[in-house]
Amino acid sequence: MSEPGHANPAGPALRARPAPAASDRPFWDGLRAHRLTLPYCDDCAAYRYPPAPRCPHCLTAVTWRECPGRGTLWSWATARRRFAPGLGLPYTVVQVELDAQPGLLLDSTLACGEAEAVGAAPLRIGLPLTAVYLDDPRGFTVHAFQPDGADS
Ligand SMILES: [Zn+2]
Repeated sequence: MSEPGHANPAGPALRARPAPAASDRPFWDGLRAHRLTLPYCDDCAAYRYPPAPRCPHCLTAVTWRECPGRGTLWSWATARRRFAPGLGLPYTVVQVELDAQPGLLLDSTLACGEAEAVGAAPLRIGLPLTAVYLDDPRGFTVHAFQPDGADS
C-alpha cells in the first residue's frame, strides 16, 4: 500500500504496466512487498543492477537479496514535457547511488515531484534519499525516491 503523502501525483492508473519476466520476477515481487530486492552475486559479493539472471562480471547465477532503499542523488533531470505515461508534469528522473554498494546506480523518479522536493530539500548531488513504494491499483508497485526528511 502507498504510504500517506507518497501517492503518485500523476495518477498511477496511467503508468505503463511492467511486464516482469522470469529473470526479474523477484525484483517486481519485492517491490510489491515494499522491498528493494536486487540480484546479488555471491562470488563477487556485489549487488547487480539492472536485474539479470547472471552476474555481468563473472557470469555466476545470481541470488536475490533485499537491499536497503537508501542512497544519495547521483544525477537528475526534470521533464516538463510528457515523455512517459502516468507521470505528472513536471517529473524528475533520478539516478541514485545506493548506500549498500558505492557505484551501484539505480534509475528511478523523485516521488514528490521537483517542486515539493525543492521545498523540502534542494536537489544537489549527494542529497540523501530514501525509497518509497507506489502501489498501482492494477496490482503492481514501482519504486521512487524522496529526500530524507521530506513529508512522509
Ligand atoms: Zn559476479
